[in-house]
Amino acid sequence: MKDTISSLQMTPRTERVLLIYTGGTIGMGRNPVTGVLEPLDFNHLVSCLPEFATLETGIDTYQFTPPIDSSDMSPRLWSQLVRIIADRYDQYDGFVILHGTDTMAFTASALSFMLENLTKPVILTGSQLPIGQLRTDGKENLITSIEIASAHHADGTPIVPEVCIYFSGQLLRGNRATKMNADGFKAFESFNYPHLGDAGVNIIYHEEYILRPDYTKPLIPHFAIDPNAIVFTLFPGVQESIVRHVIESPELRSIVMRTYGSGNAPHTPWLMRLLKEATSRGITIINISQCAAGSVEMGRYDTGFQLKNMGVVSGHDSTVESALTKLMFLQGHYSDTNIVRTKMNKSLCGEITLSEEE
Ligand code: ASP
Repeated sequence: MKDTISSLQMTPRTERVLLIYTGGTIGMGRNPVTGVLEPLDFNHLVSCLPEFATLETGIDTYQFTPPIDSSDMSPRLWSQLVRIIADRYDQYDGFVILHGTDTMAFTASALSFMLENLTKPVILTGSQLPIGQLRTDGKENLITSIEIASAHHADGTPIVPEVCIYFSGQLLRGNRATKMNADGFKAFESFNYPHLGDAGVNIIYHEEYILRPDYTKPLIPHFAIDPNAIVFTLFPGVQESIVRHVIESPELRSIVMRTYGSGNAPHTPWLMRLLKEATSRGITIINISQCAAGSVEMGRYDTGFQLKNMGVVSGHDSTVESALTKLMFLQGHYSDTNIVRTKMNKSLCGEITLSEEE
């Protein structure tokens, strides 16, 4: 990746935001030969947005060369994003990341864990239609994200000092968001946590839900990630030989198991035996519901209780994206499975809801 920082305005502004362009539909154009959408470079995007020149916030840009479709996003690129932000942390009031929608919730979740003690806004956004198209949603998403990234209280502290997704009028905590619509402009939702803000004529921030960091602590950027994990969905008819194959993969360290309802799995003895075998060998298995809203409660039905006895750990009301990237992050830092399991049961940056007793 080439390090290309440039400024979009000539007049000095008070707030400064770094706009990081990774790619995605927002900056895409149609290939005249194949007819498919392909990422274009950042100059194309800027040429479609004369509004940049009139913004009150000073904007510098950093672009991925070449820009990517977010299907090609990877843990290595997450670490690069952390590096880009950490190296320039003191120079900017906030950061906006332009990103394809397909894996935006994974990147937002990963960054929330990798940027420990974050005290500045990191806002991910993109669009469903390229910015060059007449009905694009990209302009509003981008301009409002810049406004959110530079918004601050009277004492100078930012209003939203966390990793968020802003999309179609909704400001969502990054590690609570999930892509839920492939076509509609409202592409994301946070089913288990209230919106951090809603943008209409004004941007209304719901401050009671926004994280309040300790401003005396320095940012701790984390770069290590161990992606030896898998997401496995239960379904009626799931076969023993196939599950055994997955569980016996030599490098596997963890499984996000998508169970039914409030965290239930079939009683089938072979499944319980395999899960027990896996957890005894040090594989961490996290129980996440296949339902978009609601939480796992392994004590509610016997079918969930059985899983607890097999050493499966509750993922509470986590999204799949958050549980998976949290596992990768923790595995990158701890070789001891018990530490990984214990930390999966704690909220590191607002990614799960724990009851008083937990
Ligand atoms: N395939 C695109 C991407 O994720 C979709 C989008 O940006 O909306 O990069």
